Amino acid sequence: MPASKRLFFAIELPAELQPQLVQWRAQHFTPEAGRPIAAANLHLTLAFLGDISAEKQKALETLAGRIRQPGFTLTLDDAGQWLRSRVVWLGSRQPPRGLLQLADMLRAQAARSGCYQSPQPFHPHITLLRDASHAVSLPPPGFRWSFPVTEFALYESQFLNGRTRYTALKRWPLSGE
Ligand code: ATP
Ligand code: MG
Repeated sequence: MPASKRLFFAIELPAELQPQLVQWRAQHFTPEAGRPIAAANLHLTLAFLGDISAEKQKALETLAGRIRQPGFTLTLDDAGQWLRSRVVWLGSRQPPRGLLQLADMLRAQAARSGCYQSPQPFHPHITLLRDASHAVSLPPPGFRWSFPVTEFALYESQFLNGRTRYTALKRWPLSGE
């Protein structure tokens, strides 16, 4: 039996944006606020799949490959903290429709394939800090980053030598009519 992999669909951030966000985070949050996510690991999860067999992975990849959807512009202009999950996040005041549609499709495909999907509404976000168990003061509004999203990817999450590492296994362009 092949080993299962811990998988999720996500959007990657442009490489040039990663250090900008890390610098902004360092300016606005003290080290006590929480555990910073490594620059290369910053991402926006579209659908979490869990531990998936090779066979099911293939089926999910086939379904993802059938998605036809144009790209969209993602604007990061909102930040917040969820004390329950102990994360500080970046997001959009008005998430683009294309992003919500893409996540809806991937989550529906995952659910139909037997991957548990949280019944909570999808709230697109990029986790900046984990283990943020005490209320932090959030940066004043006025920050804003915008970038085009032209693809999404299937990622494997691995915990190795005390570190979480994500590897993109497959990418799909957003280009449908
Ligand atoms: P770590 O758990 O090692 O601290 P992580 O949470 O980033 O790091 P994973 O747990 O593998 O790594 O999660 C990968 C992505 O999927 C993250 O964006 C995480 O927030 C999201 N995720 C994990 N579990 C769930 C879940 N049960 N429902 C929805 N999203 C999830
Ligand atoms: Mg986790």
